[in-house]
Amino acid sequence: MNVIDLHKEVWLGLQARRLRLPHSLLLIGQKGLGKFDLAKQFAASLLCEQLPADGQACGKCLACNWYSQGNHPDFRLLQPGALNDDVELEEGKKKPSQQITIDQVRGLDEFLNVGTHRGGLRIIVIYPTEAMNRSTANALLKSLEEPIASTLFLLVSSEPMRLLPTIRSRCQVVPVALPSTQKAEKVLADAGVSDAGRWLALAGGSPGLALEMAASGQLVWLEILIKRLSAGKNIDPLGLAGEIDKAIKESKGKLLLKTVVDALQKWLVDLTLARNSLPVRYFLPQATTIVGLADMIPLPRLIHSYRALISSRQEAEQPLNARLFLEGLFLDYRALFAN
Ligand SMILES: [Zn+2]
Repeated sequence: MNVIDLHKEVWLGLQARRLRLPHSLLLIGQKGLGKFDLAKQFAASLLCEQLPADGQACGKCLACNWYSQGNHPDFRLLQPGALNDDVELEEGKKKPSQQITIDQVRGLDEFLNVGTHRGGLRIIVIYPTEAMNRSTANALLKSLEEPIASTLFLLVSSEPMRLLPTIRSRCQVVPVALPSTQKAEKVLADAGVSDAGRWLALAGGSPGLALEMAASGQLVWLEILIKRLSAGKNIDPLGLAGEIDKAIKESKGKLLLKTVVDALQKWLVDLTLARNSLPVRYFLPQATTIVGLADMIPLPRLIHSYRALISSRQEAEQPLNARLFLEGLFLDYRALFAN
């Protein structure tokens, strides 16, 4: 996915800021748009020491070499341990964190307090910024509040409403919008995904998310989920919870519980749309099934259940027991169809 082509206007906007860089930028937008990639490419272009006219890092100079190998001395990336591809999961080892830790933020102190190595900029990319608890966010806030010369914080978030308002207000916000359907479909076609329209609908128009979902690992559990949810009141909630729980365990961290909650949420959105005689948005091939199911559910019950699911989503980040959590979700789903 070429994020610079995909978000040409955002890219030009970032480049236009080169001459008067703020201390912190916050890239926001839906999940799967390539915001993180965009932030990294912008960082690379700021660190490049032989910048070509088009504003993209040359990829050849010493700085670009260091950057691509992940050891540019004036660059730091803060992300949860679980997102770091370099960390191989070893048996018996502690599970990598889904959160950015306070130690990671405190670890920046030294980096921020010595001069830059190349005499240029110092850049910190943080992604996903919402993956911080309150004390970690407050520790970061300290650095954002006392701007340091030649230093740029590049924050990236798909859920900016979950950030501390004080963090949001310290940053210049750069919105990254959904690309046009035509552009998004091209991304999927270029990656060899057939059925682009279907996956894009499921991903709410986000090409990166659609690519991720179309990857085979995602397909299996999603097909199971769709098949079982389509059974309506005849669903076997405990059986389905077992199947999904197994898929999550076998995915070794690739399939997250909250992704399953997201899918169920989209299914409920479609049911609600259908109940109101509106076209479904996400599960296009199942439209007829969804219309049939929606007719069996009283509308207030559907709205109530959607709200309940939004609060479960928070819980899905760190549930005590994934299987029990899923059983609860699917029992609630069956209850929608009760007489
Ligand atoms: Zn370069």
